[in-house]
Amino acid sequence: MRAARFFIDAPLASQTRIELPTHVAHHAVRVLRLRHGDPLVLFNGTGGEFPSQLAIDGQRVFASILEFDAVERESPLSITLVQAWIATDKLDWVIEKSVELGVHSIILAPTQRSIVRLAEDRLAKRIERLREIIITACAQCGRNRIPHIEAKSTFSTALQAALNDNAVGLLIQPKAQLPLARVQLTSGHAALAVGPEGGFDDAELALAHRVGYHFYSLGPRILRTETAGITALATLQHLAGDLA
Ligand code: SAH
Repeated sequence: MRAARFFIDAPLASQTRIELPTHVAHHAVRVLRLRHGDPLVLFNGTGGEFPSQLAIDGQRVFASILEFDAVERESPLSITLVQAWIATDKLDWVIEKSVELGVHSIILAPTQRSIVRLAEDRLAKRIERLREIIITACAQCGRNRIPHIEAKSTFSTALQAALNDNAVGLLIQPKAQLPLARVQLTSGHAALAVGPEGGFDDAELALAHRVGYHFYSLGPRILRTETAGITALATLQHLAGDLA
């Protein structure tokens, strides 16, 4: 079986020994039942990973870091997902799956038809929870770079923030004429806007058009928002050669 992977929020170096933080030690020893000498892999989100060995010393749990492996598992296409706020369980799912599908970053945007609106204090907690989901997904799927997530206070700022690095702006919408599967990716960066359960309203579509987004469809059926985002990501990654 593949060695279990753990995120460590600290600098790491080969040929050193570090004590595992309590929650990581608990997961390794109590949940996964790893034993002294078992292989594990550490990563800290800055790229590459560290094959290591578990060392249990009484109550304390360490990792002996053996080496650094600069392996990259990122897509050649850097995609920023502009996701309208949607119901909590759906958003959790979208975030997890978009990380598996190699999303580069995620910007959450309020839209007219978003049913979720969070006050400032709850927002920070919610983003923290989504960040945990992202890290767990990275550990599971082998990513060594952690997608960034943030929430913008308006749809307009979210759309524009995602267009940096000359990204092509793509908005998916059932009525669009062009299929996303035919998009010409003229840049290594793409911004992908996905609507909430009730879709974008006309003013939002007009705004997106004004700031430079082009509209694409995902075929003849209306997909639920969570299906739509994941399908769009998989389509773009396929076009970019990332699923090969
Ligand atoms: N009645 C709404 C449907 C919303 S579906 C409308 O007409 O817009 C929720 C979101 O999923 C949409 O805003 C869109 O971003 C995406 N979506 C769903 N089905 C799609 C399709 N066939 N093509 C493109 N986008 C789609």
